[in-house]
Amino acid sequence: MAAEKLVPGLSSIRNLGVIAHIDAGKTTTTEHLLYYSGVKHKLGGVDEGTTETDYDPEEQERGITIYSACVPFRWKECTINLIDTPGHVDFTAEVERSLRVLDGAVVVFDAQKGVEAQSETVWRQANKYRVPRLVFINKMDVVGADFGDCLQQIRERLQSFGTEPGHLGPSQPVAINIPIGSGSVKDSPTPFGGVIDLLEMRALYFEVSDFGKTMRVEAIPAESAEEAKRYREALFDVLTQTDEELTAVILEGREPEPQLVRKAIREQTIRGQIQPVLCGSGREHAGIQPLLDAVTWYLPSPLERPAVEGENPRKDGRIEKRKPDPKEPFCGLVFKIIAEEHGELFFVRIYSGTLKVNSRVYNPGKDTKEVIGKLFHIHADPRQRDDLPEAYAGDIVAAMGLKDTTTGDTLCETQHPILLEPITFAQAVVTQRIEPESSADRKKLLDTLNRLRREDPTFLFKENPETGSLEMSGMGTLHLEVKRHRMERDFRLKVRVGQPLVSYRETLRRPVRTEGECDRQIGTKRLVGRLTVEFDNKKLDQPITVTSKLKPGVLTPSLLAAAEIGLRSALQTGEFGNPLLNVQATIVAAHMDPENSEEAAFEIAAAEAVQQALKDNTIILEPMMKLSVTVPGEFLGSVMSDLMTHRADIRRQALHGTDSEVEALVPLVEVFDYADRVRSLSQGRASSTMEPHSYAPAPDEVLRAFKGEI
Ligand code: GDP
Repeated sequence: MAAEKLVPGLSSIRNLGVIAHIDAGKTTTTEHLLYYSGVKHKLGGVDEGTTETDYDPEEQERGITIYSACVPFRWKECTINLIDTPGHVDFTAEVERSLRVLDGAVVVFDAQKGVEAQSETVWRQANKYRVPRLVFINKMDVVGADFGDCLQQIRERLQSFGTEPGHLGPSQPVAINIPIGSGSVKDSPTPFGGVIDLLEMRALYFEVSDFGKTMRVEAIPAESAEEAKRYREALFDVLTQTDEELTAVILEGREPEPQLVRKAIREQTIRGQIQPVLCGSGREHAGIQPLLDAVTWYLPSPLERPAVEGENPRKDGRIEKRKPDPKEPFCGLVFKIIAEEHGELFFVRIYSGTLKVNSRVYNPGKDTKEVIGKLFHIHADPRQRDDLPEAYAGDIVAAMGLKDTTTGDTLCETQHPILLEPITFAQAVVTQRIEPESSADRKKLLDTLNRLRREDPTFLFKENPETGSLEMSGMGTLHLEVKRHRMERDFRLKVRVGQPLVSYRETLRRPVRTEGECDRQIGTKRLVGRLTVEFDNKKLDQPITVTSKLKPGVLTPSLLAAAEIGLRSALQTGEFGNPLLNVQATIVAAHMDPENSEEAAFEIAAAEAVQQALKDNTIILEPMMKLSVTVPGEFLGSVMSDLMTHRADIRRQALHGTDSEVEALVPLVEVFDYADRVRSLSQGRASSTMEPHSYAPAPDEVLRAFKGEI
């Protein structure tokens, strides 16, 4: 369907993400947003697998959202760019990436389950990027839905960013509308029927026959009047803590105009001081139009977001800022690449300036120039697109024709280079051998793996130098399974995969000080160099660091650089071929011979120092997953005892209604098949999510296996 052309003014753009724990109702809510705005003419049921943002058949098959497509639509005076975020924890990298480029978020909670493990994770990520947010409490129609309890849980379990950069305080959810009743007609004497708008003090009901498009406004029912008054007072109590204008009106005993209240809510939401809370039910098509209004009223336009910061690569990394203004020099971030069979779509968030079609832009991270061949606004189905001659600061567009750019790269004007902080990605924790069914397809497999890696930096592959076989790695077994399906479906490539294997790391058992020496005759040359290096293993979950404590002049700058490069390269892999982690190397002494010292001598000495340090001094580290399980009470016992026999460290246990939620740290190797296992332990009634958490020492047998002893 062709949507109207979108020519946004900056102040009327809302770059919005909807985030939630899996199954809370994010897709259902999103579907309604698209339906009410007219982008969709039909409401696709999630359960039938015909939703707009889940355009990937893979997602429809699984009923989960994996790829973040950006869907623009209009609501009243605003253009909302809806950035779809994945709901499954195996895809946290995608959530992080989308949070980086959106300006405001709606966090959907399940009214019966409250704050679930992944809502906590995404809430924390949203704090990291200082994203103002609204809360939508969905599923008010289910048994045990409890609006007040949800508010309480958000207040107690989640933190929020405030006015001070880097400072986190308690979150402050404030209801701006409340439910009329809860539960369904079948199981509740006062079933959920509609919502009360606390600003206008009126009841809103939604017509089921047109999926809630028709909204009926009535007086607040008598039995809800008291409660509405209480919640309205609570809202004003919070708002008047920092809004003088509103305080003055209330002190004079006047009823404040909704406009004035909205202004206060908007300012405090953007500052991160409050999170306005709305409620409804996707199933009953209720409460979602007020949510759309709230997005336009309370969430910031790109103009209201702080300027972005980045390094100027030509001026020794001096920090520069770019304001969201079309007249500033252009800069933007490529946050998503979708590989299609005939080319790639690069989704760019423009932070400043104007991006024109056919212009040349600079990629400072790769030090290359790129040509913007085409520029589009893309619809939910990326085959539907509007060509654009140019696009402005604050917008999100798709470009084609770029060659060397990968996800997370900055693009900018050549004359005004700036390198935005790169998006950080978690490390891959699981590896699987992969081969084409027909050996003639090996090149095609390599090309496909390359494309998928460019799309998703948490997906890696390499060739095993000993066997020549290809191995892919990622964030979890589901992550790899999804990639395999894409190869087969989108690239028509039949592949075979091996058993999933844990990606181990190595580190030092204890700190150590070693010497590396080079004294060799090579042809007519003598190469001489000596280094003393201290190796430490104290900092956890850190990559390798190499520093020097040498006094100036002990080594020439080029010899010192050679020693550091030698250390870094020798520290790439440990004794048993796994990447090293948590090793800090410091050069503490060195000796050079003015006649015979060359760079190669110090590279050799460095490699020897590393070899000495690793000898009989290795521990193997294994990835630990943060696992969260929601399980009905009657199955809790068997789920817990299963966890205990799989080396789990139980971190938290909570009761929500009749369901228990268990959070544990578990070695990845113990939970490869967890989704299936927990299903059979609970007759299919428990659900679980997991994400990589950290690395911890593996049991001794793992080291012995690497040594070939068992
Ligand atoms: P997502 O995983 O967060 O995208 O959640 P979905 O939108 O796919 O919804 C998960 C399941 O909950 C689906 O079976 C929906 O039909 C159902 N669901 C969504 N919203 C509601 C609601 O308001 N009430 C009820 N009873 N079910 C809902």
